[in-house]
Amino acid sequence: MADAQGETNPTTRPSANEPARGAVRLVLFDIDGTLVSTGGAGMKAFGEAFEAAFGVGDVTGKIKFAGRTDYSLFREMCRHGGIDCTAETRDTFFSHYLRLVDGHLDANTGGPFPGVLRMLDEIAALPDAPTLGLLTGNIREGAMRKLGVYGLWDRFAFGGFSDDDEDRNRIAAAAKTRGGEYLECRLDGPEIVVVGDTPRDIACGRHIGARTLAVATGGGTLEALQECEPDWAVPDLTHLSAAEVCGR
Ligand SMILES: [Mg+2]
Repeated sequence: MADAQGETNPTTRPSANEPARGAVRLVLFDIDGTLVSTGGAGMKAFGEAFEAAFGVGDVTGKIKFAGRTDYSLFREMCRHGGIDCTAETRDTFFSHYLRLVDGHLDANTGGPFPGVLRMLDEIAALPDAPTLGLLTGNIREGAMRKLGVYGLWDRFAFGGFSDDDEDRNRIAAAAKTRGGEYLECRLDGPEIVVVGDTPRDIACGRHIGARTLAVATGGGTLEALQECEPDWAVPDLTHLSAAEVCGR
């Protein structure tokens, strides 16, 4: 993925061989709990950054992180900590966060979940290979760090991030629009698969009309994910092939 938002790597652009209409052309992955565990690096850095920025003790114990967006988490922390949530306080907070998350990621106690690397390789090797993108509640710079430490950032052509919006459904819409721009076509919902580990991932995939693949690697139960009626629900990505997911 290119460093500047909106730019893409020309070497990964789609070929002139267009996949059949209706085939999956884009697979969007959530990060935390889906692609990788960061060993709690993000959560630790969130609490420390709030204290470093505003002198208010860690309030993360009052907050549920799974499936949330960074901007919505910051808003909730401000509410618990008595801090005004403004563009200025948010910028201050995330500058501390990015500095601190690097330190926790360097401890490197996490890694990709089972089947992730194989799935990414298999999708990339499919005929008329679907494009790989991100659909995450992380801010873009945080996503880059979390995936970069495991050598995965460059596997994805573009993404939708918390920088796009506080609301995950609107991040999904931004990722869909960006995917259409990247592929130079109007993407229909069923041409997209959204992969994630929480009911919020399934909901945002459904919001853009995408097929949804739920993986129970992020701490939630398989049963809870199945109740949300995704197209697939699996314990981890070793249980599916790229061909099954992408219809090749
Ligand atoms: Mg997640």
